[in-house]
Amino acid sequence: MKPRSPTYQLAILETSDLHCNIVPYDYYNDKKSDHSGLAKTASLIKKFQKIYKNSILVDNGDLIQGNALADYVSRYQPLPADQIHPIFKVMNYLKYDIATLGNHDFNYGIDFLKQIVKHAEFPYICSNIFLYEAKAPHHKGKSLYPETYILEKILDQNEMIKIGFIGVAPPQILVWDKHILENKVIALDIVETTKKLAAQLKKEGADLVIVLAHSGILPLKYVPETENAVFELTKIKHVDAVFSGHQHSVFPGGKVFNNLKKYHVDNEIGKINNKPVVMPGALGSHLGLIRFILEKKNKNWKILQSFSEVHSVKDFEADSKVLSLVDEENKKVLTHIRSYVGQSNVHFHSWFSTIMTTLSSQFIQKIGIEYGQKNLKGTQWEKTPLLCAFAPLNTGSHGSPYINIAKGSLAIKDISNLYPYDNEFKIILANGNQLKEWLEFSAKAFNQIDINATDEINILNPLFPSFNFDCIFGVTYEIDITQPPGNRIYNLCYDNIPINPRKKFAIVTNNYRASGGGNFPNVNKFKSILNSTELYRDIVVAKVNSCNEINVNLDRNWKIRPIKNSLKQKIIFESALDSIPYHPPFLNLLSKDGLLKRAKYLVDMTKF
Ligand SMILES: [Zn+2]
Repeated sequence: MKPRSPTYQLAILETSDLHCNIVPYDYYNDKKSDHSGLAKTASLIKKFQKIYKNSILVDNGDLIQGNALADYVSRYQPLPADQIHPIFKVMNYLKYDIATLGNHDFNYGIDFLKQIVKHAEFPYICSNIFLYEAKAPHHKGKSLYPETYILEKILDQNEMIKIGFIGVAPPQILVWDKHILENKVIALDIVETTKKLAAQLKKEGADLVIVLAHSGILPLKYVPETENAVFELTKIKHVDAVFSGHQHSVFPGGKVFNNLKKYHVDNEIGKINNKPVVMPGALGSHLGLIRFILEKKNKNWKILQSFSEVHSVKDFEADSKVLSLVDEENKKVLTHIRSYVGQSNVHFHSWFSTIMTTLSSQFIQKIGIEYGQKNLKGTQWEKTPLLCAFAPLNTGSHGSPYINIAKGSLAIKDISNLYPYDNEFKIILANGNQLKEWLEFSAKAFNQIDINATDEINILNPLFPSFNFDCIFGVTYEIDITQPPGNRIYNLCYDNIPINPRKKFAIVTNNYRASGGGNFPNVNKFKSILNSTELYRDIVVAKVNSCNEINVNLDRNWKIRPIKNSLKQKIIFESALDSIPYHPPFLNLLSKDGLLKRAKYLVDMTKF
């Protein structure tokens, strides 16, 4: 009998979308978190490093932005060049092997990014983003970081395997961060880049080709320049595995990936087109793991089997060494977020902001209108009707927390909870027709209700993030969710008069939307009439600071259009457990999950 070639086991561990969450702490709500923080993920990392002696640790980007700690060290007290960012203190300690960039890592500009990444004691790769070079063909200058990296990993019995890495991020960074990236970088298509580099890595002798894709899985349909390319990446011949992220979901196992087997998305075993894929949630909620059983035969490596898994941090304690590494910064951040801004007479919450008007959204909108009026005064736009487009944020959508701020004093953390993003304040000009298109796009947030159906359906489309559900204040309208997308906005009125399609409106928004974020039709082409560089959140802080007490009245300027007869179909809405005492009459509590802290409601469509 021929002796069997030896086999080896290799485990690649992944974190993604950490958004600077190290301490298991929700800084917005100023309370401990049991499901986030790299300190907890670290315990899982250590566990699997013990189990699998051949392991590699990777990070998939969206690392340095997204919580109060990130804000503190980048904007409030920007780190000096010689000082290490707290996230890199931890990652160096955990001995990461390699990392790539996510879209949010560009939020503070290239210079800051370069400055802090210098302190990482592991390689960074970035395959599809290049410095802008005015004179070069397609303005493609030098690469920001090496496009590929071959890691020579020594396995047991002193065998060496060459693992080739590619790292890609959504080219949409140039839309989302246009104001700081235009003429600074260019971004290329994820799929085309990977095809080219995977073949190149093979030629260079890579035994395995791994893609670190800061990109999501859904939708499955590919269009050039796509944001979420993982499905397409798994079809590329030389690609052996894809580490995904960006969508803050969990794969395998996440609900949104159920029932896709017919498209070769296997949510049980974590394979797409037969290639292993993982997505480890967000904020350190999970550790992703792809495990290969490899055989070496005649100098060639072959994958005999592969397994993908995600592991939740929920039952794991935070690693004490990690906590001690950032203890000082954590204390400073806590002092900062608790600093007093003003008084409020309003209970702000976001539990229902995706299905009805709420004070937490309208508070932001009313401040936007007031600030806009002040700034348009004396200009030719002074008399143009001023509206405010704002999408409810922190509504539990895509891994975000909820807003729940009691009456009383407001601190920095509360304002950051009401407006978490570092967005700049903008005013753009649209006509009545464009306004309707804007709202129609936004109304895609809802699943279509079939009045003859009987199966259970979520009222919200889980793939549509709440940060793209723009509600427009200053006009009134109804959303008919029994109609298909594009045909849902009814009774759109300004001052109780149906909107004239040619009438001009000035609309307060932010740089994300104004530069095309969310792919709203034509919004990036609308004329800009106030191009402020002030952060919207800072405007809110200043307003609260200047008032004796915040009072906001709720204008029910939009609602979901009620239907006459109750339905056989079960229409479901989910929110936080804390929402129960406050739920509106059109919701009936169905069940609660104490463990996941979720409440499930039945929607009575006759009562909107
Ligand atoms: Zn992210």
